[in-house]
Amino acid sequence: MNIPFMNLSIPEKSDREEILSAIDKVLIHGRILLGPEVSEFEEALTSYCGTKYSVGISSGTDALHLALRSLDIGKGDEVIVPSLSWIATANAVAMTGATPIFADIENDLNISLESIQKLITKKTRAIVPVHFMGYCCDMVEIVELANRNNLLVIEDAAQAFGASVGEKRVGSMGHIGCFSMNPMKLLPALGEAGAIVTNNSEVSSRIKILRYAGMIDKIDCVEVSLNSKIDTLQAAVLNLRLRKLPAIIQKRREIASVFDSEFSDLGVLPSYEENSTKSGRHVYYGYTLLVNDRSKFIEKMSTAGIETKIQHSPLMPDQKPFGAQDKNNFENASYLVERIVNIPNHENLSEDEIEYIVKSVKRLI
Ligand SMILES: *Cc1c(COP(=O)(O)O)cnc(C)c1O
Repeated sequence: MNIPFMNLSIPEKSDREEILSAIDKVLIHGRILLGPEVSEFEEALTSYCGTKYSVGISSGTDALHLALRSLDIGKGDEVIVPSLSWIATANAVAMTGATPIFADIENDLNISLESIQKLITKKTRAIVPVHFMGYCCDMVEIVELANRNNLLVIEDAAQAFGASVGEKRVGSMGHIGCFSMNPMKLLPALGEAGAIVTNNSEVSSRIKILRYAGMIDKIDCVEVSLNSKIDTLQAAVLNLRLRKLPAIIQKRREIASVFDSEFSDLGVLPSYEENSTKSGRHVYYGYTLLVNDRSKFIEKMSTAGIETKIQHSPLMPDQKPFGAQDKNNFENASYLVERIVNIPNHENLSEDEIEYIVKSVKRLI
């Protein structure tokens, strides 16, 4: 067997035709920039996430950057981020002029509350929790801690679109939620795309200005900014795909519960909350194992025809622009980042492939 980690092609002809007809509509009306599909997408997001406002952005990275800027975070400010994330989290903070401060993580791979607490200083303005691999952080605790310390919370929900805690969707629990709709994510565009959601009308209006060169009504430039609009074509594709999202999440959860029960005795699973597959807290952007002899495991899996992926190494504070950090601040992250490895868990896996992955992991770990 040969099981790639993921496959971005669209095998079903009917799915391809649906996309082509959505694109055709845009070609006919010709409103290629901020066309009606963009507002339709934004409305769909607010109703899905249960927030008052939503703004389509050119990427998840830009969404984070503009979210921070809309809250006047910049030079002289500190923003606490987890050590383990895709580098965009730290880059977005640094691009505002603020300093990312790297917190440790727990054994569920999400930011550690205790570590955040230790890192708060007079300069701290915000916390950016990342719902790593689709597993929602303990937002109740994080928001409480933030409120006690007068801090803002910007959720990096790039990997967790569709996850929820109780009635609340990921992205709706902090001041601003940021999503990526890049082709690898759970709600994928056919290129770069992202969005923010918020309940704050000032934030929403300001982000609309910031995504459009700092302009109001295309006439007056009120502040310096770049171009971060979402494409109408991408919004058209996302409107279609948003309808298919629940089925995708359900399939990923089904695969995850097979994996969970098969692997539970191997001592290789992150310590997620007991019922997180069923409760809605996890959407399984990635299915992560923690493996001591990781490079051997990856090699053996590859020989067996199964592609794996390390997401994401090295830790952000160990990357060149952020070097020279105090490693004592993220000891557990340093331990775990040497062990994380993701196995294929995408919704197009067949029953046979799932069974083959299970057998191979059990045999090769
Ligand atoms: C993908 C991702 C981003 C950035 O999103 P892009 O749309 O690729 O710019 C930010 N943070 C995390 C955690 C991500 O996984």
